[in-house]
Amino acid sequence: MKSGYATRIQTIVIGGGQAGLATGHYLAKRGLPFLILDAGAQVGDAWRLRWDSLRLFTPARYASLPGMHFPGRGDAFPTKEQVADYLVEYACRFRLPVRNGVRVDRLWQKDARFVMTAGKQRFESDNVIVAMANYQVPRLPMFARELRPDIVQLHSHDYRNPSQLQKGGVLVVGVGNSGADIALEVAQSHPTWIAGQESGHIPWPIETFVARNVIFRFIRFMGHHVLTVNTPIGRKLRPKMLHRAAPLVRVKPRDLIEAGVERVPRVAGVKNGLPILADGRVRDVQNVIWCTGYEHGFPWIDLPIFDEKGDPIHDKGIVKSLPGMYFVGLNFLYSMSSATLIGVGRDAERTVNALTRRLRNRASAVQPWPVPVCSEMSDEGATQEEKVYLVNRDFDASEASVESFTRH
Ligand code: FAD
Repeated sequence: MKSGYATRIQTIVIGGGQAGLATGHYLAKRGLPFLILDAGAQVGDAWRLRWDSLRLFTPARYASLPGMHFPGRGDAFPTKEQVADYLVEYACRFRLPVRNGVRVDRLWQKDARFVMTAGKQRFESDNVIVAMANYQVPRLPMFARELRPDIVQLHSHDYRNPSQLQKGGVLVVGVGNSGADIALEVAQSHPTWIAGQESGHIPWPIETFVARNVIFRFIRFMGHHVLTVNTPIGRKLRPKMLHRAAPLVRVKPRDLIEAGVERVPRVAGVKNGLPILADGRVRDVQNVIWCTGYEHGFPWIDLPIFDEKGDPIHDKGIVKSLPGMYFVGLNFLYSMSSATLIGVGRDAERTVNALTRRLRNRASAVQPWPVPVCSEMSDEGATQEEKVYLVNRDFDASEASVESFTRH
């Protein structure tokens, strides 16, 4: 039998990226007590730790989260650092109670309360919102481990820039947006092959004046208002889009050819330590970059809410079979824009509205939960590093009750 202390609060949001922060914004606006738990060392890390040259493929005018304008020109494509800084600024502006460095390793239910552990820490809440995109755990084929040890192999998740590669050829595996971006970059210094077939591409160059100011309005309209679970075409396309790479947005197949990147069929396995292609050719390369996507990685959720493919069963983010449980940020949660900066704010608001309705119908709604207050500290004039520090230390334990528990 073990004893310890649990932090109890009405709502816990797991994930402090854009999905968790947008959700926190609406929870704070309603005056509800909550806490955001995030595995990253600091707010914005999901963006900051992506490859160095990454820029958004969506213009800044569609990158604003609810309540705070994304700075700069609306038709610019922000860098990943600018997005990360914006998220830090956002958490500071709304004084969101983010606890960084807390990776939830198990979520389950006991006596109608949700219980979470993160190492030795334990949290309990009436409501849980899992707020994160599907891009949590890099997906690698099983045969990746059979590659010769002298071949440098990286997943796009760990790729930063070409200096991580050794001399010689590079095989980029996967022709999604990551694969195409990275192949174009490494082709400047290495002979490069890209394996696989893209699932379509946007036929216009996105950096032109017309694309930034006209075409993107159309793309946004389609992805945000037409391709949703409320329209027949959205419902028809959703199952395909859940498990398929998105079409290429910035890089076109022609750009790859012009940059000297050779297109080859998909990688079928490994032979004598080298990648073998679907047409039987073996590629003698010195580097392999796996741009093979991600899993949502939810084995830590110990609740009966998944279908046979391992996807959470929800209706626009609401888990109907388990009152109090919600998702925000997943692919096509409500619309094609759901997992992007364009759509996450709208989903966060709908989820918090649903949660508020649930609270109204429950006794807990009248319990005197304290209103969250982050701290009296001012972030005015603080540097970016100081702001990160303020966000991370801003959670005030007085918002949550700390109670002892006994585990059998
Ligand atoms: P994440 O940013 O992944 O944040 C989830 C957070 O949850 C992380 O901080 C993580 O540490 C934390 N977490 C995970 N598991 C746990 C746990 N068990 N316990 C506690 N914390 C946990 N979208 C656009 O709108 N425009 C773009 O141009 C664009 N480009 C993209 C480029 C790439 C390479 C990728 C991968 C995605 C891109 N996206 C883009 C899609 C999307 O906007 C990003 O993936 C974004 O980071 C998703 O934000 P999120 O908050 O939903 O999830």
